[in-house]
Formats: sequence, structure tokens, C-alpha cells
Amino acid sequence: MNCRYCGTPLSYTFLDLGFAPPSNAYLTKADLAKPEKYYPLKIKVCNQCWLVQTEDYAQADELFSPDYAYFSSTSSGWLAHAARYAETMIRDLSLDQNSMVIEVASNDGYLLKNFVAAGIPCLGIEPTYSTSKAAEQLGIPQLRQFFGHKLGQQLAAEGKQADLIAGNNVYAHVPDINDFTQGLKAALKSGGTITLEFPHLMQLIKHTQFDTVYHEHFSYLSLFTVISIFEKAGLRLWKVEELPTHGGSLRVYGCHTTDSRSTEGSVEAILQKEQKCGLQKLDTYLSFQLKADQVKNNLLDFLIDQRRKGKKVAAYGAAAKGNTLLNYAGVKSDLLPFVCDAATAKQDKYMPGSHIVICAPDVLAREKPDFVLILPWNISEEVVKQNKFIERWGGKFVTAVPELELQ
Ligand SMILES: [Zn+2]
Repeated sequence: MNCRYCGTPLSYTFLDLGFAPPSNAYLTKADLAKPEKYYPLKIKVCNQCWLVQTEDYAQADELFSPDYAYFSSTSSGWLAHAARYAETMIRDLSLDQNSMVIEVASNDGYLLKNFVAAGIPCLGIEPTYSTSKAAEQLGIPQLRQFFGHKLGQQLAAEGKQADLIAGNNVYAHVPDINDFTQGLKAALKSGGTITLEFPHLMQLIKHTQFDTVYHEHFSYLSLFTVISIFEKAGLRLWKVEELPTHGGSLRVYGCHTTDSRSTEGSVEAILQKEQKCGLQKLDTYLSFQLKADQVKNNLLDFLIDQRRKGKKVAAYGAAAKGNTLLNYAGVKSDLLPFVCDAATAKQDKYMPGSHIVICAPDVLAREKPDFVLILPWNISEEVVKQNKFIERWGGKFVTAVPELELQ
């Protein structure tokens, strides 16, 4: 296999998590009687451009099924993040009723609804039927397609180039990152701005966030590599911000190469941080597996220990990262009988691979577990706040990444 960005043959493995079903392939009761598809989950690193990427294995359309269950609006913290972003962009870019905002992978309209409320024309591009249907009901125009160079050119031909193109947690998910970036270039008005948010590879490495690895996530991105990918497409990064979302993300700001805006100091500052963290050294990548295995072993130790003591452990948050962790650790319902999740679309379904049942959060009050393992550690503060009542029977919250810790 060759690097998806620069074409160099990939000879180094960053992380091998064995085989796993797609992290968002939640199962119904009837599915439990059928065979389940497992794909290799192996991550390679390119020693030329340092793009960290999944090994080829399956078609994107197999992973994003029409009933894809992730609705952005179920996290209140994420909604507030989106509202703040919209407010800042409207102000800083002077967006008004003559502007055009496009969001790629607009999900259920959690972001664009803020622009609609401000009277700014927008377009959501979202291939998943269930989420784009929800966005349509909020009055957001939708294109139910995958984004790429062809669609970017089509939008340009129809006079729908954008003043602002937003892409939150989509850049790492596209199989052909060059084609996608060319699409951004084609759909961007002269003088327009692109912002992309993606989990920062530097944080993944620093904090052993190996559970953020899953099949739908084709790339693990550093600023260093994204600058290079943008340049090749005729785009330039002129600003970057570090965000606390998803365990540490970057928001990069792009424009056409010829744009008059100068590049801000933030770009150089974060490039230096990455270099200090060893992101352009092969050793950094080759030593990661050992750290991931330690996290997995500590979680297993804890669960087996509690089981022996007769304590009850439940989990909270049927997130994709939880599936990666549980499947790599081989945890099943004997050690973890149920997972609670506030998203009704996931309730009464089963976690892929582990087949642990997903319940409504009120089951906690009935079952009174001694420990609640929070799988989406990035929203642990929110989860603790909303479920503080477990303290009434002495229940405690635990997270497993980057190390096993009581909350
Ligand atoms: Zn490469």
C-alpha cells in the first residue's frame, strides 16, 4: 500500500489493533443471530510526509450505512462549541444575507442552524440519510452526497462557491484526502475562508488516545502534514488554533494560495510544538504500540479485579472510541453488563463486537453499579455532572485513557 497523500510505499506500522467491526455498526437484537463482519484495524505511518493512515480494507459506503447512528446534537457541550464558532465567524468574516456558508459533513444541522438563524444562506453536504433528514427539518438546504473534487467543481459551476466552508471532524474521515482538498479549493470563493477541525495527532500520541483509532478514521493529522496537503491543492493555511474538543483538536484556517491575508504566527508556533514532540521522527511512531497495550492491560486488570470482588461495573457512552477500546481489550458483557447512552437511536441496540447492550441512562438508578466507566473520556466532565446521583449509593466514575483513573 502507498501513502494516500504522497504515494510513498508504507513500510512502518504505527498501531495494530487486530480485527474489529466498524465502530458505528450498532446491532439490533436480530443482528445478534447473524455473522458479524470484522476488518483489520492497522495504522501505518508514512516516513516521507508523516501522514498516519489506516491500512486499506473496505469501501466507505459500507461504513456509513443509511441508519448511521451518530447525531452531533446529542452532546450539549458540542452544540455550545458550534454556536460560539458561528458567532465568531459571522463577526470576523462579516457574513450577511449575500454570503454563502457550506458545511461538509453537516450531520444533523447542529452547526448550520446557527447561520440559518442569522439569515445567512447555507448548504449542508451530508451523505447519511438519517442525519441529513433531521437537518432538512430545521430548514437547512441539503445535498445528500459525499464531498470531493467533482462536487466542488459542480458547486462552482452552479454559482454556489462559498465565503466560508466549514468541516468539523470530516477531514480525518475521507478516504481520498487529495481529492477532498481539491474539492475545497474548487468550492471556495476568491477571498473565502476554509476552516477544518480535526483531532490533533500530537495529542493522540502524547495522551495515548489509541481508542480514537477506528476504520472510519482514515487519517491522523498533524499540522505539518496538513500544510503540505493544502499546498499541493493550491491552498494555504494562514492561522491555526488548538481546541480542547475530542481530546485536543486543531482548527485550521485556509485560503487560496494567492489570498492577500498574511500567515499568522500561530502556524509556526504549533509546527514547533509538533517538532518538539517528535512528530517527524520514526521512533515516536514505533514506540506507540507498547503504550497502548499498557492502557488495555490496566483496564482488563481493573475489570477482572472488580469482578472477583463481586462489584458491579457499568459503562457510560456508547461512543465509537468505546468500541475500539472494548474490542481491543476483548471485553464482553461478563465483565461489563451494560452501557448507558442518552442517544435514543442507540438504546436497545448492542455494541459491535462486544455485543454489550445499550440502555437509557435511567437504568443506572435501578442497577446501582459500584463503578461507571466513562468510555468517551473527552466528555467525562459533562457525564459526571449529569449523573452525579450515582454518589447516592457510593458509585464512582472511572476513565481508562490515558490511564485508569477515578473521576
Ligand atoms: Zn506520505
